[in-house]
Amino acid sequence: MQSELAPRFHNQPWAADAKAIIGACVHCGFCTATCPTYTELRDERDGPRGRIYLIKAMLEGAPITGRTRSHLDRCLACRSCETTCPSGVRYGRLIDIARAVAEVELPRSRQDRFRRWLVRKVLGDSGRLASLLGLGRMVRPLLPSSLARMVGRARPTGTAPERHHPRVMLALAGCVQKAAAPATNIAAARVLDRLGISMVTAPAAGCCGALGYHMGAAAEGLDQARRNIDAWWPLIEAGAEAIVPTASGCGSFIHDYGDILADDPAYAAKARRISALARDLGEILLAEDLSRLGIDGNGRQVAVHVPCSQQHALKLPDAVETIVGRLGFAVAPAAEKHLCCGSGGANSLLEPEMGRRLRRRKLAALTGMAAPEVIVTANIGCQLHLQGGTDTPVRHWIELLDEARP
Ligand code: SF4
Ligand code: SF4
Repeated sequence: MQSELAPRFHNQPWAADAKAIIGACVHCGFCTATCPTYTELRDERDGPRGRIYLIKAMLEGAPITGRTRSHLDRCLACRSCETTCPSGVRYGRLIDIARAVAEVELPRSRQDRFRRWLVRKVLGDSGRLASLLGLGRMVRPLLPSSLARMVGRARPTGTAPERHHPRVMLALAGCVQKAAAPATNIAAARVLDRLGISMVTAPAAGCCGALGYHMGAAAEGLDQARRNIDAWWPLIEAGAEAIVPTASGCGSFIHDYGDILADDPAYAAKARRISALARDLGEILLAEDLSRLGIDGNGRQVAVHVPCSQQHALKLPDAVETIVGRLGFAVAPAAEKHLCCGSGGANSLLEPEMGRRLRRRKLAALTGMAAPEVIVTANIGCQLHLQGGTDTPVRHWIELLDEARP
């Protein structure tokens, strides 16, 4: 698809990228069938090909309408279309560019701006979110059932092992997970400890930046990425061999630090190094001798929800299923593995109807062919969102392994 960007966009740092991505699309439409929003709404403009047309028109100078924006807003940035696309169209990069442009070209209403600001400021700050969750737990019986399930009950975290191995990897405390599921990183540290790896957290690191960046607040996300790089750098120079966020959404964004900071002369080289060191926790475990864990899942029935960030962005669709299967758990068969659960970062809060529709569909796919005693996943957003729709416990898979230790 040929495109000629409007003159006012020619000097933008993203201009060449946008042109190349639009140019790579041959509008074959293969991606449409695997797009969750198209599958639900059957409107071409709510599928990747239609959105690429809308973005092309927008970047060529056509006025942006509220309707165009609503089609872009509904996109979950799940990148299922990238997995399907035979032409290698980097749709995830394009939608980030388009959203940032739309924020400037068509300012949102004050109410909408406030709503989105609030989502970023609450979810992106673990202290604020922890306070809100604490309050929610106090009034849990009064909450609607979906919210009550998401808020859950505080669980004991146990203690993290001391650092005593020569092999060191960096954890990311993050934002939402730190407040809503603090046991996850501690479980990961205990499992890695048994494999001879110490997991270390840099106290100054925080939200990976994905939340703001994917919501059109690119500058905010980039600042958070720079802060994390500064926090990790001394530990990397001291020999840390990998950065291992336990939330795959954060992992996929850190993987992109090199690309998103490529134009920043002060950070480009460091960002590339950070991206090269970023590893999914599943990748780490698959490279180790899992028999050292001494775990036997005893055939417990487990459903695995693979987050979009893990399967479509990091290209690790089978990592968790392989690990839990090797350790003796029975992986429940599930249909439509490629489809998003509806969480989509903060999308389930901003587009709740679509979030609920996709959640119903995902839970039916995960539990329709078996009755798993637990659903495991690799991303806190999916975990909380799915838990809102079911009484079956939804956990991070590493906690399953930690609890099964001999
Ligand atoms: S599959 Fe790829 S090339 Fe075909 S329409 Fe979708 S994005 Fe374009
Ligand atoms: S990122 Fe996901 S929701 Fe957005 S167009 Fe691609 S497949 Fe559809």
